Amino acid sequence: MKTAIYPGSFDPVTLGHLDIIKRSAAIFDKLIIAVLANPRKKTMFTAEERVELIKLAAEGIPNIEVARSDRLLVDFAAERGSFIIVKGLRAVSDFEHEFQMALTNHKMDNRLDTLFLTTNYEYLYLSSSVVKEIGILGGDVSAFLPQSVIEKVAQRFKEWGAHDGGRD
Ligand code: ADP
Repeated sequence: MKTAIYPGSFDPVTLGHLDIIKRSAAIFDKLIIAVLANPRKKTMFTAEERVELIKLAAEGIPNIEVARSDRLLVDFAAERGSFIIVKGLRAVSDFEHEFQMALTNHKMDNRLDTLFLTTNYEYLYLSSSVVKEIGILGGDVSAFLPQSVIEKVAQRFKEWGAHDGGRD
């Protein structure tokens, strides 16, 4: 069985993420979405909330698992026995960082390979941080989010209003 891992912050999951999830799930027998819980990275949603939002967004896709990861990706991959990492590439600006990460992970564990899927051009511009910036300032973010998470995410934006900070 070919299993791949799609890691990220998903703070919150967007239509761009969901597109990569759907396309990877169609390629592999199983896709594990690894929600990275990095205590040094401020997030708007806790790791548990991010996991729940992805589960809601990806409901109906049978061959996925959504898991929280508190550790290095190489350790998570070894624990799961899955050595294919899937990443989405939006623009040249993503490339340098992703390329560095892919090489570093391969150096740390040479069983690991990273596969890049190009973004759907519809979502080329889309990132969680842009959605947060719009949402916190009261903008309508429904065009950027999976239908099933819009209400929950919009509620958080309302609570946050003008104050910033992070949790997790
Ligand atoms: P971001 O805050 O930029 O969305 P994440 O860590 O949540 O960052 O992203 C996880 C993975 O999803 C990364 O590989 C990222 O390149 C990819 N990704 C994020 N948004 C998109 C998009 N709109 N199209 C394609 N891939 C995307």
